[in-house]
Amino acid sequence: MDAHPPPDPPTWYHHRGGAVTLGPPLEGLHHARFAVVGGGLAGLSTALSLAERGAGAETVLLEAVRVGHGASGRNGGMISAGFTRGLDRLVARLGRDRARTLFALSREGVALVRRRIRAHAIACDPVDGVAELSWFDDARDLRAYVDLLRDFGHPAEFWPRERVRELWRSPRYFDAVFDPEGFHMDPLAYARGCARAAAAAGVRLFEASPVRRLVREAGRWRLELPRGRVYADTVILAPGAHGPLPHPALARATLGVVSYVAVTVPAADRLARTVVAPHAAFDDRMATGYFRPLPDGRLLWGGHVTLFERRDRRRIARLVRRDLARVFPDLADLPFDFVWAGAMPFCRHKMPVVRPLDDGLWVATGFGGHGLNTTAMAGELVAAALRDGDDRFRALDPFGLPPVLDGLGRLAAQLHYWAFRLHDAVRGLFV
Ligand SMILES: Cc1cc2nc3c(=O)[nH]c(=O)nc-3n(C[C@H](O)[C@H](O)[C@H](O)COP(=O)(O)OP(=O)(O)OC[C@H]3O[C@@H](n4cnc5c(N)ncnc54)[C@H](O)[C@@H]3O)c2cc1C
Repeated sequence: MDAHPPPDPPTWYHHRGGAVTLGPPLEGLHHARFAVVGGGLAGLSTALSLAERGAGAETVLLEAVRVGHGASGRNGGMISAGFTRGLDRLVARLGRDRARTLFALSREGVALVRRRIRAHAIACDPVDGVAELSWFDDARDLRAYVDLLRDFGHPAEFWPRERVRELWRSPRYFDAVFDPEGFHMDPLAYARGCARAAAAAGVRLFEASPVRRLVREAGRWRLELPRGRVYADTVILAPGAHGPLPHPALARATLGVVSYVAVTVPAADRLARTVVAPHAAFDDRMATGYFRPLPDGRLLWGGHVTLFERRDRRRIARLVRRDLARVFPDLADLPFDFVWAGAMPFCRHKMPVVRPLDDGLWVATGFGGHGLNTTAMAGELVAAALRDGDDRFRALDPFGLPPVLDGLGRLAAQLHYWAFRLHDAVRGLFV
């Protein structure tokens, strides 16, 4: 990995943004107060939150490949409040008050990303509004969900099916929940913007710098890399699911769940007749599908969760096209220019894990398919704890790092996902 870092993933984002180097490989001996491992949005947000608290010059960020190489530079680009674990399941587990606290933190994550885009003039094409389109003919259920969101202070709107079908011309969708605070953007451009902002605030950022080992030595951490070492008082692990997980507790508890994305050729005129709204949208099946129009007239389409990644691009394209054809048959013949896969870090409870693991060792992971807001939230929680003694991260205490037993856990999770798909199919028949 170090001598020949892998090429950039074949995403529309990388094609558009081009190859960018944001830091040299780490060489020699370095000392830092804080060492952040991982240049995805969890690591970048943590470094930026530390820098915003005056610790930029005391922080080192180590990325195994390049900034945004993992899920953060490959995702659907939709940001909204909430977590991978549904709000109803959060309330069921924690009760209304504690769920409200966590939901508010996730919402602050959305606001923080907005603020950073503005403050650092990050050119990532934000477009307001995210719609959750219902796959099921069950307006009552959806209205109850809107009521819950509104009770939690969120300005969610119920959109009836007539309006939905004006904006997205598909017979598949019924009513919708519209989130006016959510938005969509180019996540790689945002990640790179965060990296530049962190570097400008003094953070020493190294790419092509995989951390191979962590060793506790005389009250500090020694991070071993192929061509150098870092001694740090505090280490924050934010490795997602794309790299070698540098701690056994993390490796035991993290599942890399794979999802696929495809981007069509530019076809603004045809899109305008079918995908009328500019907003990003996803459906409410447990195994969701999502899409959004891109600024150059293409359609981004994503979905299809799996534990066993396919490598053959043509097969991935066939899977994605099948989903697209079910929803928008008129667009099913559009060729794809870009097809890719990405892996997101999941823990069993589908909640982020933001906590100390050991003396001076923190972890920020488990963001699942809802990472654009929760990584910003996590960075803020970690930095506030380390710099200000803030203990808001404790709101996530009920969700630890339960092991997933890799081989068996992977199979169990895949069965779980198939069960979800079956559940969706049956619900679609009987609601
Ligand atoms: C296809 C897809 C679509 C998605 N769509 C959305 C969406 O629309 N909205 C949303 O909110 N979320 C979405 N997500 C989820 C979101 O992208 C992730 O939850 C989030 O990006 C995770 O960020 P991260 O920093 O934890 O991980 P990553 O972005 O994977 O970053 C981890 C980084 O750490 C580096 N690393 C790992 N190990 C080491 C090491 N030992 N030393 C140094 N560096 C290391 C890796 O190279 C990587 O760059 C999607 C995810 C995928 C895969």
